[in-house]
Amino acid sequence: MLEIRDLHVSYGKIEAVRGVSASAAPGRITLVLGANGAGKTTTLRAAMGLLPVRSGEVVLDGTPVTGRPTHRIVREGLALVPEGRQVFAPLTVEENLTLGGYTVSREKASGTLERAYEMFPILKERRNGPAGLLSGGEQQMLAFGRALMSSPRAMMLDEPSMGLAPTMVESVFGAVRTIADSGIALLMVEQNADMGLEIADDVVVVARGEVVFSGPAEQARRNTSVVRAFLGEA
Ligand code: ATP
Repeated sequence: MLEIRDLHVSYGKIEAVRGVSASAAPGRITLVLGANGAGKTTTLRAAMGLLPVRSGEVVLDGTPVTGRPTHRIVREGLALVPEGRQVFAPLTVEENLTLGGYTVSREKASGTLERAYEMFPILKERRNGPAGLLSGGEQQMLAFGRALMSSPRAMMLDEPSMGLAPTMVESVFGAVRTIADSGIALLMVEQNADMGLEIADDVVVVARGEVVFSGPAEQARRNTSVVRAFLGEA
């Protein structure tokens, strides 16, 4: 279980995140929606130890990890799949995956590599080719696979659908569901509310650094106009 409680994050005097709480349970997908600049990426990066937390808590299966260095947070079982995928284009698919396993032992890493290949057979097919030649959707799966290499119990996904054609988005969201079904807790940031809501179990809507809606996805699906209003699209 990943719990972010009353998180506050500032860039100098700018309070980008002002008391965001969100949680994700094993096997479930919590969707974080919000307009541009709402503070979604800042929330994920601070939870991952990549930005200083002003106040609030990040708790993983009961263990507070707030403010710890990122590699320690990874070792506790949390992984981040960053916006824009950020795969290493000249390296092979397998080299990219192996880099994600640097926090675990070699024996464990070979097991998780096989698991990543089972989950995403396309990565096995392309394992010796450069990551830069994969399609956008395949690169996103590689970014998922790389994060899975640290054997996380919870994963945070930053806009996995960004820049992808709708059919690609479908297969990427299929991959997201597969990851959740393996028992991992997922917190997924998206701008694509309609498609995100289709696969989400729970939803948190953020506006100007604050949570304005939090509840079951079913409730949000029944009230899309309300969600749109929160997102400033109405
Ligand atoms: P997007 O979908 O555009 O990524 P977001 O919801 O992820 O939006 P953030 O990137 O977290 O939003 O940004 C939240 C606020 O913090 C915005 O007002 C943004 O301008 C500001 N901000 C983000 N990064 C920095 C930075 N490095 N320095 C100063 N302000 C920043």
